[in-house]
Amino acid sequence: MPAVLTFSRRLGAVTLALAALAIAFGAAQSPERRKLLVLSVDGLDWRYLRDADRLGLKIPSLRRLMAEGETADGVLGATPTVTWPSHTTLITGVEPSRHGILGNQRPRDEGGDYYWKADLLKVDTLWHATRRAKLTSAAITWPVTVDADIDWNLPELFAKRRGGAMDLPSIASKSTPGLVERITAMYPSFPQEWMDDRTRALATMYLMREPRPDLTLVHFVDLDSEAHDNGPFTREANAMLEYTDELVGRILAVLPANVVVALVSDHGFERTDRVTNVAALLSRIGVKSGANVEAGLLLATDDVAAAAIRKARTDPEHGIGREVPIDELRRIDPSRSRGQVVAAFEPADFTMFGRDQASPSLTLPAREKGGHYGWPGRYRATFVLWGPGIRPARTPEIRMTEIASRFAAVLGVPFMPGAPTAPRSPAH
Ligand SMILES: [Zn+2]
Repeated sequence: MPAVLTFSRRLGAVTLALAALAIAFGAAQSPERRKLLVLSVDGLDWRYLRDADRLGLKIPSLRRLMAEGETADGVLGATPTVTWPSHTTLITGVEPSRHGILGNQRPRDEGGDYYWKADLLKVDTLWHATRRAKLTSAAITWPVTVDADIDWNLPELFAKRRGGAMDLPSIASKSTPGLVERITAMYPSFPQEWMDDRTRALATMYLMREPRPDLTLVHFVDLDSEAHDNGPFTREANAMLEYTDELVGRILAVLPANVVVALVSDHGFERTDRVTNVAALLSRIGVKSGANVEAGLLLATDDVAAAAIRKARTDPEHGIGREVPIDELRRIDPSRSRGQVVAAFEPADFTMFGRDQASPSLTLPAREKGGHYGWPGRYRATFVLWGPGIRPARTPEIRMTEIASRFAAVLGVPFMPGAPTAPRSPAH
């Protein structure tokens, strides 16, 4: 008996040592370990993919990802449904009210500039988790990544913009030293004055072929610009999506076998035919207080204002749409649950709420033909996961806050959404 015990104890010790070795090896070096490439197509409303046949879209690469991967029946966005807060929710797993990126630009009393720098993030991100696990990360035009703990970084940063294109000198001034040169050595047409989706794709192809980061975050911007200018689901926007699909196809052609691809977006999109001037509307219906516009909704904070807006809603000229039930409001936007909202109203279809105190006119000119105004209930974003270990499936709608944990699971790194940002850690 004692001999057997000793033997099995020894065996146990050997097994444990082997297991520890396997964990150490698997964490850093195994060629089988999965990597993750996140392709965010700004403004890719879920309906582009859901209704691709009806829209006649020639998007073979996106169709392939959907057919072979896991596709959610839409993504309920974060509040507000704008680019910088939503991209940050994708990689933190919490609402903007918790991660601290409240809009594309900071509030006026903080100077009103963009939320460029990563030290504005209040919570942990996937790239922090990746570095803690001794893995590597990369980001191309990802919002809030200036000075981030990312191994290969071309942050979203611009002094000049032309649609979705941003001036490369600004980006290069904060990029990982030598990265622009290394991409250029592989793709000589990379260093043009403007960084657009074509050169974002070249940078991504370089990353897939050479350093092969464990986590790569890519933000394509051109579809969003086209949809603002010409409206979503238009000939122009559809053509831009088909172009984006070609770029995705080029990336897939150089993809290592162990990379999982996530195709996501930050928000949906809506055509904008008119803008209701809420200032003129409230003055016309005699509401002096108790009403304001927030995250694209007209909110009443007392019963008198609520009653007046309900009455005004019956006149289509006012451009007021559906009344959002309070429980739906709180379900979609939990951060509002402590507020004093008595009633909430969407704008009418193809309408947005604006405010111009100086104008007595009820309708303001729409500066853009398409937009996304803040309220997640209005449209859905996109989530497709494809690659090794991902089975083809159509799954129910998810919330954007669920996505970061899915990403962490693909990478096999521990991640707790909402944990405070750890102090900066050095590259390894
Ligand atoms: Zn966007």
